[in-house]
Amino acid sequence: MAIWLKRGANAQAKADADRKVREIVEAALADIEARGDAAVRDMSIRFDQWDREDYRLSQAEIDAAVDSLTPQERKDIEFAQAQVRNFAQIQRDSMKDVEVETLPGVVLGHKNVPVSAAGCYVPGGKYPLLASAHMSVITAKVAGVKRVITCAPPFHGKAARHIVAAQAMAGADAIYALGGIQAVGAMAIGTQSIDPVDMLVGPGNAFVAEAKRQLFGRVGIDLFAGPTETLIIADEIGCDPELAATDILGQVEHGPDSPGVLLTNSEKFARATMAKIERLLQILPTADHARKAWETFGEVIVADSYEEMVSIADEIASEHVQVMTGDPDYFLNHMTNYGALFLGNRTNVSYGDKVIGTNHTLPTKKAARYTGGLWVGKFIKTCTYQKVLTDEASTLIGEYCSRLCALEGFAGHGEQANVRVRRFGGRNVPY
Ligand code: NAD
Repeated sequence: MAIWLKRGANAQAKADADRKVREIVEAALADIEARGDAAVRDMSIRFDQWDREDYRLSQAEIDAAVDSLTPQERKDIEFAQAQVRNFAQIQRDSMKDVEVETLPGVVLGHKNVPVSAAGCYVPGGKYPLLASAHMSVITAKVAGVKRVITCAPPFHGKAARHIVAAQAMAGADAIYALGGIQAVGAMAIGTQSIDPVDMLVGPGNAFVAEAKRQLFGRVGIDLFAGPTETLIIADEIGCDPELAATDILGQVEHGPDSPGVLLTNSEKFARATMAKIERLLQILPTADHARKAWETFGEVIVADSYEEMVSIADEIASEHVQVMTGDPDYFLNHMTNYGALFLGNRTNVSYGDKVIGTNHTLPTKKAARYTGGLWVGKFIKTCTYQKVLTDEASTLIGEYCSRLCALEGFAGHGEQANVRVRRFGGRNVPY
């Protein structure tokens, strides 16, 4: 039986925090609906102390951001974008249209049709998360989305130049310096100055994730991608306390609401990792966020076996799962609920977050039970079609259809079939 050496905040505390966020978001979206640009501007001033006549960046501002990169910065961003584009293209190529004759004269198919317009949110309240620009803008473009607009909050009172450069290099059609609820609300609802999109994507803090959730239906959303979560599955064969501690702190530094969990089969390893975390927190420059997150949400669990570790990990359904055990593939083969797996101690979540090529926009708050992360497929509608090529096929399907409609009492549906059986089969439907 597993034991918890450290437990995170209780469910009630989490539910209270969620309720507060929900209420703030509801009021803000209603205000954008009612007042459009004026509401967006008021919120930008209130939440970000950021006021502009027009939040869309001019071409001159965009060019200045790109030109401000050092040659090394430009190469690094280009390298990361090439990895993301390459893997997205491979995934796109794997999505085939289908057309098949399922019965003589009956042809069924599906086509993969990209949405027309997407709004990509790039988070940047605490850190300018330029990597999110590659993840959403490039993926949308590879999927074939025609109009891709993108928003990121100001950073230290200015448009975040590294984010802007990455958004432009990724191929965005319009870039806005807007953050939070006002950004996703404006993109989804539309305002006097921003045409609405069909789909919202991208990660963000609790306000952004909740706003996307409330806007779902009016627009499509990729997934619930809120505050980062990480689960480290480790044993003494595949890992050591320094790696485990570093990899937990590397993710809980995202913000005070980011859970980090260690799941291991050795109490000695668990205690050594906890001690190492305390030591690293003394020197980590981002310890403010990391300590709060670790103290409030951090968990340490000691299980008896790989089997029990899989079952606990599937129950947690964490966004990131880093597996550093003697047999990482055991977890690849047996786990079912995770946003992304990072297998073996040579890789880690940061590689995936920034550069390796898989998408870093991933499900949180147990959404990994029903979805994977952002990928080209999220921008694509798989739409079916059908054709009936012969009189015989229309008569065959029509007879079944007519009788099945009668079972449901649908006379009008039935007549759609009857008229065709008479016309193409020259008879009435036998009951
Ligand atoms: P952010 O851009 O998501 O949010 C900043 C905005 O929040 C601000 O512009 C402001 O308008 C708004 N805001 C802040 N306080 C508010 C309040 N009290 N009321 C209303 N609005 C408020 O940037 P961030 O805050 O740094 O958060 C980024 C988040 O993205 C982190 O939680 C990180 O873990 C998460 N993330 C998730 C994934 C994923 O795939 N799940 C990936 C990367 C990052």
